[in-house]
Amino acid sequence: MSMKKINIIGAGLSGTEAAYQLAKKGYFVNLYEVKRLKRNSVQVTNNLAELVCSNSLRSDDLLNAVGTLKEEMRLLDSLIIKAAEFARVPAGGSLAVDREKFSEYVTDAISTNPKIKIIDQEVSEFEHNTVTLVASGPLTTESMQNQINNLLGKDDFYFYDAVAPIITKDSINMNIAFKKNRYEKGDTEDYINCPMTKSQYEHFYNELISAELAIGHLEGEDSFKYFEGCMPVEGMAKRGEKTLLFGPMKPQGLRNLDGTTNYAVVQLRQDDAKDSLYNIVGFQTNLKWAEQKRVFSLIPGLESANFVRYGVMHKNNFINSPKVLNNFLQLKTDPNIFFAGQITGVEGYVESTVTGIIAAINIDKYLKKQDMIVPPTTTVTGSLINYINKASTTNFQPMKANWGIIEEIDIDKRSGKNAKKEAYSNRALAAMKDFISKI
Ligand SMILES: Cc1cc2nc3c(=O)[nH]c(=O)nc-3n(C[C@H](O)[C@H](O)[C@H](O)COP(=O)(O)OP(=O)(O)OC[C@H]3O[C@@H](n4cnc5c(N)ncnc54)[C@H](O)[C@@H]3O)c2cc1C
Repeated sequence: MSMKKINIIGAGLSGTEAAYQLAKKGYFVNLYEVKRLKRNSVQVTNNLAELVCSNSLRSDDLLNAVGTLKEEMRLLDSLIIKAAEFARVPAGGSLAVDREKFSEYVTDAISTNPKIKIIDQEVSEFEHNTVTLVASGPLTTESMQNQINNLLGKDDFYFYDAVAPIITKDSINMNIAFKKNRYEKGDTEDYINCPMTKSQYEHFYNELISAELAIGHLEGEDSFKYFEGCMPVEGMAKRGEKTLLFGPMKPQGLRNLDGTTNYAVVQLRQDDAKDSLYNIVGFQTNLKWAEQKRVFSLIPGLESANFVRYGVMHKNNFINSPKVLNNFLQLKTDPNIFFAGQITGVEGYVESTVTGIIAAINIDKYLKKQDMIVPPTTTVTGSLINYINKASTTNFQPMKANWGIIEEIDIDKRSGKNAKKEAYSNRALAAMKDFISKI
């Protein structure tokens, strides 16, 4: 059978993953990417699959839903997970990466693949007679967004997301900061921690909540449109004086080297393989850059911090998936168009990527005129797809991997704290193996 050509719009996480999966099945892929002609304001390189904010793909622990999701993706031969393993940097129990090495690995794998043609172009129109995967991400260019709105109707679903700043390691005062993982997990000490006394915290807190914002109107009617997991640090702080102490500044499990405790702790995570850059964990922000420098330099140990990237705030668009897509990530009104990535209403690097794999599997099935399939809701992948398919069409909110959306399991409450998560994880991996055997 002669293999058909497939268009993919966007060579980010989900688009490159889908291109890799489709090329493996023998298809020719035109992979369209705009960034080499016109970058958005968070992109800083010409590489594909750029991680625009955190360098972490989050927990690797199978007891955590996102840890199990990554294991499911290893079973599905995910290119993005292979790249992450290749570019791994120490981060306790998390899979964090050197972002440049990571994107270079993906760019190399895609650009040397004879079945994939990278086309540097901003797509502004659909080719309705060619099977197309829209993977243009939360920052889809305006012209494409207009096309999507014309096709689907404008539901105006969006939320605000912010990026955390990155500083150089040599600018951190290690006479104050110390290396340790929370609860001393792992064999190495991966995180740098900046401890705070109560009075230091109170001073920092007051400056933070009164600092000037970059996008001012978020204070008003749009402030509810933050995604909870990406809430800017100053937004979190404004919820109450102690809120940060239960979030990114929580001191639990981070005693000083002499064993004494702290009122608050700010954690810094390695951001590159050379170990020269660190990001401030959970400090995504909408403060003006000068304000970031002024306020974050009040953190003990960061008095002379050298900022190589400041935080920025963005509007993320997503479609009304429960209304417009079927379970196979295919448009109900045009079977030649599939969607993947954050634009479908999943949230996060890993979650966006896995939808690229599922879309690729179903594009293959669709072209072969076979029944399309999705993993069962006992897998983390299947539960995410099920969520975006079945959620409310009037108040659809983006979703990260979590055990709350997976098919419930009945387990004796006395079996111990982790027994249920262990059962979820084991069941998910067995179900994914079974699903793969049926593809
Ligand atoms: C500011 C910000 C910070 C984020 N921080 C995190 C984080 O810390 N952790 C996390 O897990 N997730 C984060 N996310 C969410 C999400 O996981 C990432 O955006 C992820 O990259 C989404 O993958 P994707 O494949 O959907 O889109 P992307 O990886 O963004 O890929 C989309 C690609 O499409 C291209 N494109 C757009 N329009 C067109 C067009 N018209 N024609 C051709 N190409 C086009 C873009 O240039 C881009 O390369 C963040 C998102 C944003 C916007």
